Formats: sequence, C-alpha cells, structure tokens
Amino acid sequence: MKNFLKKHWVKFLVGAIIIALIIAIPFVFTPSEETGALNSYKMTLAYNDENKTISGQEEVLYCNNSNNAFSSIFFNLYPNAFREGATSTVVSSSNFNEAFPNGASYGSIEVTSVTDSKGNALEFKIGGEDENILEVVLPEPLYPDESVTVVISFSSSLPNANHRYGYGENTINIGNFYPIACVYEDGVGFFTKPYHSNGDPFYSDVANYEVELTVPNNLTVVASGARQSSSENGATVTYNFAGQKIRDFCIVLSEKFEMASCTVGSVTVNYYGYSGDGDLQENADFAGKCVETYNKLFGAYPYSVLNVVKANFVHGGMEYPNLVLISDSAREEDCNYVIAHEIAHQWWYGVVGTNQYQHAWIDEGLAEYSTYLFFEENSQYGLSYNNMISNALTNYKFFVQVYERVNGQVDTSMDRALDQFATEPEYVQLTYTKGVLLFDNLRETLGDRKFMKALSNLYEEYAYKNINSAEFIACFSSSAGRNLENLIKSWINGTVVIA
Ligand SMILES: [Zn+2]
Repeated sequence: MKNFLKKHWVKFLVGAIIIALIIAIPFVFTPSEETGALNSYKMTLAYNDENKTISGQEEVLYCNNSNNAFSSIFFNLYPNAFREGATSTVVSSSNFNEAFPNGASYGSIEVTSVTDSKGNALEFKIGGEDENILEVVLPEPLYPDESVTVVISFSSSLPNANHRYGYGENTINIGNFYPIACVYEDGVGFFTKPYHSNGDPFYSDVANYEVELTVPNNLTVVASGARQSSSENGATVTYNFAGQKIRDFCIVLSEKFEMASCTVGSVTVNYYGYSGDGDLQENADFAGKCVETYNKLFGAYPYSVLNVVKANFVHGGMEYPNLVLISDSAREEDCNYVIAHEIAHQWWYGVVGTNQYQHAWIDEGLAEYSTYLFFEENSQYGLSYNNMISNALTNYKFFVQVYERVNGQVDTSMDRALDQFATEPEYVQLTYTKGVLLFDNLRETLGDRKFMKALSNLYEEYAYKNINSAEFIACFSSSAGRNLENLIKSWINGTVVIA
C-alpha cells in the first residue's frame, strides 16, 4: 500500500506540536516453477448492484504442506472487520472521513454452508479475535502432503467506503472479500490475526484461481488473473478469469472505466481511468515503463497481464496480484510515484510474499526502495535518487526528534506486528522511510553490483514463497558473500544510530 506520506506527516506534525506544547516537550530471469502443492480456488460469483453484495461459492482444494496433521483448517474472513461492532479498526481516525464520506457504513461476510466435494455438510465455526476466522472441522485428519476439498457458500456485503472493500462514487472495490486460507507455519500454527488499520493486514500463500463472475452489463470488470471468456445473458454478463500462482484475487467494477494499454514483452499492461480522462495512454505507458524497469532490475514479471486501476480509495494506492489500485484523490504530481510503488509490489508482495502483518518492513521497504531505483533508472521523470534519499533521511530524523520530544523516547524497531505501532505515522516512518534508508545503507555497504545481485537472488529464491526477517537476512548475506546479520539486525531492532 502507499500512504499519502506528506499529508500524514503534516497531520502528525501538527498533532505532535500541539501535544508538545500542552505537555511542554542487470540480468533477467523468470521465477522457477518449484513450489509445494498449491491450494486452488474455483469460485462462482454474482455481484448484485442493488444490494451491493457479492455472493456465491468457492471450491477450495486445500493442501497440507506442513509437518503436522490437521483436524480443522482455517480461513480469514476479512469483510467482518467492516461489520457494525467490530473491534478491529479498518482505518485510522484521521482518515475516517475520507474513507467514509457519507458517514459510518458497514459490511460483512456471511458463510451460509460448508460441504465436502460430495455435498455432505461439514461442521464450521466463526471465531477468531473478531469473528475474523472461519474454522472448518474436517471429518478425518488431514495428514502432511494430503489435500482436501471444501465447498464454502458465502455472501459478502460491501460498505459505502472508499476502501479496499467498499463501494464509492466512482468504483466498487472488492478486495479481500472471500474466505481465504490462513497461512500455516510449522512451529507457529495458523496465522489468524484480525484486520488492522495500520498497513495491509494480509498474509496468504500463492494459489491457483478460476473465477466465474456475473455482473450487471453496465459495469466494466477488472480483476486479478487473466480474462478467459465472457458471455452476455440479458442484463448481465458472465466473465471467466484464471490466475496461476497468485496470492489473492481482487475485483474492481465501474460504469466509468475507460482503458488504454501497452505491451512490455509478452505482458499486457492496462491502465483503467474514468471516461473523459485525458491521460489514459500516458499512464499506461508509465506503468509499462515500471514493468520494463523492474524486469531488468529484479527479474521478469511472470504473469501475462497487469491492470493499473484508478479507484476511490482512502490511501494512495493498494496492491493485489495483477491489479493495483491508484487513488483518484492522489495529487497529479504524486500519481507516477504511487503507480511505481504499487507496481513494485508485484515483485515484493505478489511474487515474493511476506507476512505483511508481522514483517511489513520487508515488502513496504522493498517496494518503496524499488520506487527510488525506478526514478534513478529513469531520470526523464525528474526525481533524483540522491534528493529522495536525503529527503527520507530528513523526514526520518525529524520523526525521531519529534517523538523523543513528545514521548521522551522513541521505539525505532522496524520488525513489529501492525498492532504494535502506536500510530500510523510511526508505522509509515519505520517501514517505508527507515526501510528505504536500510536498503540505501546495504547498497553502500555492498556496492551496486552485489546489492543488485542480492535483490535479484532474493526474487529468484523466494518466488511464490513467503520470506520472514531471518530468511531475508540469510538470503542477503549469502548473496553478498558476507554475514550481514549484525548490520541488518541493528537496523530492524532499532539500535543503529542514523546520523
Ligand atoms: Zn506499499
């Protein structure tokens, strides 16, 4: 995700000053094919524009890639974070009015049945800390390397919200709307943390998707995966999408979409703006330039399509597989920056995954630093790498100074769970800004050639997997041919002194 850093920063600064006054203080590779057995989702869905609901069923082939037997499997129910009475926050209080311009609005997901592949009912429970988890009780244990098929029927209702999940004036954003399997980690268990307003509170494994979606025929559909076919039935149209090895599936609908495209090798890059926009082709070409640059720097984008979609969205942008949202309230001068950041997430989030709840610094730090690399490689857009680093350093030091004055101390550790950051500015400064400074420091330490090789190795080695902080350190150290543990840990643990 990309926050409006400047805006947050101003709000944060004003708040901090008030508080202070009151208290008186180059090579290209294509990711390889080796992964364990993949889950798959076959969905049949219909969107009802009158009720603002998306309903249907998903047939999930769930594979046990762990070393343990499971008596239950678990799924995230993200839409329940939007329900009335939820204890999770979906947006910080300073962004509430922008996310909910017409006042509070609610959404949720109802699971109506769970069966096995033969239609026999399976026991299920809605639980977790905030009704955010669906537990499906298996009739017999699922042993390592075995798979099971469960069929989940559900209906998700959207709030009136400029959010990842919600309908606004221009677009209907349908992200994180279906039951998606919780990631299981040996020694940890299923990861079941609820939604949080800081960052992108998601964590998933790559999977294969086949999605059939019926919508009213006045709406243009943009989705993850690649469109296979479509057929008209009176007032509705049914589309089929397929995506292999993607981490999630997102849908955006609008009556207003107009599209321009370009191609980068075998990849089609589409930019969806609103009818009447004069910059469709320009934005499509810019997005294509991003794909071309990251292909060269990190390794090839392995999918056939990438959709860059203008949408009503509270933050600057948001990444999904094959699809990124760019806020229609982003200032024109920020638009390219947001596009470059969100497209970088196709490499760092999409292909190389992380637990974004627990280790947000990895994908946000890498996406933000990749954005700097993009502008360094493409000087025609007028942003200087050195200036950007120098601004990041000034911002970061200012953040530390203000927090020290206001709170008497500042926690500068980066590797924290989203709910361990006290404020959104703290989260942004420590994952994005300090992330950028960490990668700049690693580059200075290793030299350009070794540093860039380490990034492309990371992309190759962790393609379609999830990387944690320890694995990141090990992978970077091995590429660099030296032990970087103390150096990287001093940054993420907050002990490094940044002068
Ligand atoms: Zn981001």
